[in-house]
Amino acid sequence: MAVPKQKQSHSRTAKRRAQHKMAAPVYNACPTCHEPRRPHRVCASCGSYKGSEVVAPHAHDQRQAAQPGRAPLPQAAYDQAALDHDHDR
Ligand SMILES: [Zn+2]
Repeated sequence: MAVPKQKQSHSRTAKRRAQHKMAAPVYNACPTCHEPRRPHRVCASCGSYKGSEVVAPHAHDQRQAAQPGRAPLPQAAYDQAALDHDHDR
């Protein structure tokens, strides 16, 4: 079995672990209904993906109703989505 030649210092371990951190979830505005939506996912409010409806709207609402402990989207997600789309189209 391969064995390390030298002990890894606490400093080197700490420098590696300094990169271990959580990232805030990203939300974009749905191009169809402008509700906040995770990128590369079907929109939960209108059920569209890439401009076409792929699931019935509010199918996710029914699923979330079955999970009463599930938290709603943070207000920051709505704020970001409001800044994220333009009205020119
Ligand atoms: Zn939508």
